[in-house]
Amino acid sequence: MRRRISLLGSTGSIGRQTLDVAAACGFSVAALTAHRSGALLEEQARRFQPELAVCVDPAAAADLKVRLADTPVRVASGPEGLLEAAALPSADTVVTAVVGVAGLEPTLAAIRAGKRIALANKETLVCAGELVMDQAEAHGAEIVPVDSEHSAIFQCLQGCRDRGEVRRLILTASGGPFFGWSREALAGVTPAQALKHPNWSMGAKITVDSATLMNKGLEYIEAMRLYWMPPEKISIVVHRESIVHSLVEYCDNAVLAQLGAPDMRLPIQYALTWPERTPGPAQPLDLLNCPSLTFQAPDYDAFPCLGLALEAARTGGTATAVLNGANEAAVALFLEEKLSFPGIAERVGLALKRLPVVQKPSLEEILEADRAARALVTHL
Ligand code: NDP
Ligand code: MG
Repeated sequence: MRRRISLLGSTGSIGRQTLDVAAACGFSVAALTAHRSGALLEEQARRFQPELAVCVDPAAAADLKVRLADTPVRVASGPEGLLEAAALPSADTVVTAVVGVAGLEPTLAAIRAGKRIALANKETLVCAGELVMDQAEAHGAEIVPVDSEHSAIFQCLQGCRDRGEVRRLILTASGGPFFGWSREALAGVTPAQALKHPNWSMGAKITVDSATLMNKGLEYIEAMRLYWMPPEKISIVVHRESIVHSLVEYCDNAVLAQLGAPDMRLPIQYALTWPERTPGPAQPLDLLNCPSLTFQAPDYDAFPCLGLALEAARTGGTATAVLNGANEAAVALFLEEKLSFPGIAERVGLALKRLPVVQKPSLEEILEADRAARALVTHL
């Protein structure tokens, strides 16, 4: 098994773990990209020797060019640089580990170039899932999920020859750092509290999404798009231990689950090696020393973001792009301490209520819905 990877978002949590997997499995790296983390990108480029390194921020790219002047690595900048990395002819696989809707156009470029997409950037499927999946089919590009829940479902679907046999996808949720808290208690949550996740170490945006449970709402939409499932065939259960990564219930009542230590390197690796499996760096699961496995219903009252995401999923069209854009803007305000924790759900709810919905949207209509949602949330 050989892969040559273009890694979008190499300096982030998923990006760094992808490089662990690449080093352990002997995959080569064609391109590395960051937003502005030039020093780390330099270190990664010296180690993995890609042909292209991109900083989207032009000043960071100029600095990176100086840093890498003694190497053959070519440096590019701007969104065009990201698009170039996504479609680089020498790469067979693109790992989309950029955060937010910034990942949408590069993912489409990688699809048009017929690459295997190891998809971590869930916001892409939330905003434009139907368009992305249609394009992937048209260009014969495989999309293999990196998100642990969707990887678990993907693994439980191997060998399923008729999707009609699937009764339900069951997504597990850790419940985040505030599981069991009341709505009143959540009113005073600070960014420092929200950034402490019990089981996973991730980028700031997804960590806040895990605290509001918006992450599970985004994953619900991601699952609908990846597996062409209607909303009523997907359920969510809280599983505090993050060992059962998700499940598939079949029509004969068999329920298949994928278990593993909470370690993203396993789903990242499977997205790269599928349909094969190889030894890799992920932690093994020690059943005799793991906690008892528990399952509970989510609290929709204390965590209204989850209900808002399910509502947007049922509405469809640009509603999911509005949900995502509003959430990205609201989370940024929360992290800057300009918005309270419950304010995130309030602003997302207002955006969904006020902005029009376009069904079967074009890419331009999706990007416009995203812009309108951000503007509304930021200027309220
Ligand atoms: P991080 O914030 O840790 O990393 C984000 C990466 O994207 C960094 O390389 C960052 O560069 C780059 N980046 C940020 N903004 C832009 C932009 N506007 N244009 C181009 N590049 C940009 O995020 P994570 O690794 O945690 O998450 C990445 C994606 O994977 C998200 O969509 C997330 O939902 C998904 N995911 C993450 C999981 C996890 O365990 N972390 C689990 C499942 C899914 P720089 O360093 O320069 O800022
Ligand atoms: Mg997940």
